[in-house]
Amino acid sequence: MEEATASLLETGAKVGADSWQQRVKNQTPHCGFGEAGTCCRICSMGPCRITKKAPRGICGCDVHGIVARNYLRFTAGGSATHSDHGRSIAHTLYLAKPDGAYQVKDPEKLKRIAKEWDIETENKDIYDLAHEVALTGLMEYGKPFGTQRFTKRAPEHTQELWDKAGITPRAIDREVSQSMHMTHMGCSSLPEALIRQSLRAGLSDGWGGSMMGTELSDVLFGTPKPIDTEANIGVMEKDMVNIVVHGHDPSLSEMVVFYAQDPEMIALAKANGAKGINVCGVCCTANEVAMRHGIPMAGNFLQQENVVLTGACEAIVVDVQCIFPALGPLSKCFHTKFVTTSPIARMPDSEYIEFHEETAAENAKAIVKMAVENFKNRNQDLVNIPQLKSKARVGYSVEAIKKCLDGVTNSHVDELGTLKPLADVVKAGVLRGAVAMVGCNNPKVRPDTAHIELMKKLLKNDIIVVVSGCSAQAAAKAGLMDPEAKEFCGEGLKRVCELVGIPPVLHMGSCVDISRMMILASDLAKDWGCNISQIPLCGCAPEWMSEKAVSIGNYVVSTGIDTFLGVDPYSKGSEEVTELLQGETGIKTWVEANYTVELDIEKMGDMMIERIEAKRAALGI
Ligand code: SF4
Ligand code: SF4
Repeated sequence: MEEATASLLETGAKVGADSWQQRVKNQTPHCGFGEAGTCCRICSMGPCRITKKAPRGICGCDVHGIVARNYLRFTAGGSATHSDHGRSIAHTLYLAKPDGAYQVKDPEKLKRIAKEWDIETENKDIYDLAHEVALTGLMEYGKPFGTQRFTKRAPEHTQELWDKAGITPRAIDREVSQSMHMTHMGCSSLPEALIRQSLRAGLSDGWGGSMMGTELSDVLFGTPKPIDTEANIGVMEKDMVNIVVHGHDPSLSEMVVFYAQDPEMIALAKANGAKGINVCGVCCTANEVAMRHGIPMAGNFLQQENVVLTGACEAIVVDVQCIFPALGPLSKCFHTKFVTTSPIARMPDSEYIEFHEETAAENAKAIVKMAVENFKNRNQDLVNIPQLKSKARVGYSVEAIKKCLDGVTNSHVDELGTLKPLADVVKAGVLRGAVAMVGCNNPKVRPDTAHIELMKKLLKNDIIVVVSGCSAQAAAKAGLMDPEAKEFCGEGLKRVCELVGIPPVLHMGSCVDISRMMILASDLAKDWGCNISQIPLCGCAPEWMSEKAVSIGNYVVSTGIDTFLGVDPYSKGSEEVTELLQGETGIKTWVEANYTVELDIEKMGDMMIERIEAKRAALGI
């Protein structure tokens, strides 16, 4: 891949394009205060920064208060994004109509959620039910009393821990807004209180906003089932109109995928000299459409500029989150249309087609048409699509995993639809445990290598890996989601993959779909009869970069899963905050799990294996 990127950057240099590789050089070395989390600019008496000579800010806040406040704001930013994403999906469900652009594709799942929320389902029109569920979901964002509904899905023990620690989230928006309030000048500066709220804001995302996004997306667009696709930059097609969807919200990408298959649009593409229309994805949007339609994945976070650099991208269509503003000026160096669609993510040098769920069909059609008509403007001399692609089987929702496990369940003896077969192979030691690998790319780590090297090491040690987000795409590009990827596995894992018919790395979706992993861990604990923190399981984000990843980290640890980070979350400036997050006396005593920050990936892999073995030993298995 690095060779291919180098050749793409050569084209970029020819046309005067900027690149993230260059911008990283321009920004290095980074400011040490920022890196340690020890600067504060939340009021205009500052900015203040903490040094030996100046141990307090002007208001008197010490380094621990400043680091903890920064950490909470980091979390709140992440929680807000996922939660807004979930809200927009709930809104889309509210607008679903039998003859509209959005329909209910999984009525069974809709009914399951309705029952869980005590909504009457008998003799009700499915669309009336959808609207009621959507409205109830939307109320979760700002209800004045009680706690979030989805938290009741967690095992009782986990819920008790949350209540005892005072971190059970109430309403989704409320936790974000309280975080902003707490971090205002002159409010909280007690690290413990700030870190508790960080966990609560994280939980309001993972067991609230993200879960809303995932669950209602399944209702609207279908619950993912295993499906074959391809990954890497080579999925772009030389003779076709290439439309790249990038961002997060499937409401947009689903519609683009739909109109790219419209015979009228295909005829238009042919009239413009192309063989057809090829849609592929970048980042989490790629995961969403790959999981549900087998749409190929062109790349992850740090490959987003590469798709334009191929010279063969007619349009890169984006919604929200993780979109480089650099795509605007970069697209101007080529014929590429950079299409922004959300009032939440406006960027210079883009064509703005505001996308609304109410007018989704006409918006999506206009976008596809713009891309198709742009094919003739392609400069063939600049076209360079590196021929790199791998096969991948994706689409492992919790429902799909249970279904696969049903295939190895003796239905005369055991119940179907449980995770017991998984618990059994872990107990027997055939599988040693599992790692949930998630998160981004970060130029601080050689892109993808941490993800891939860790995965290979875990597979060799008979540890199954479940992935989401850009980690999933790293795995797909490396061929680890190909059911043929057996050579990477130890004997036990290999046998399990063969018997169940799965690849050793299971693609569970986008970043909001990490909520699927929380359900998986909860259901596994219930079926096993133990606490989540006892399962030989770790979370890992080796190349994380976004605020969302911090929010995710907070809900993963709060769920009882030890979490390993390959990049420091700007907390090293305070030993008190470091102890709270990573020590034995902080969050570990509240939620039975904590963080490990380890920049040496080789060491991190060993530590995860050790942690899994220690959990096994504690269970006596
Ligand atoms: S809140 Fe305190 S530490 Fe922060 S900028 Fe204002 S005076 Fe400085
Ligand atoms: S994994 Fe990180 S970079 Fe990738 S889409 Fe999610 S938040 Fe963005």
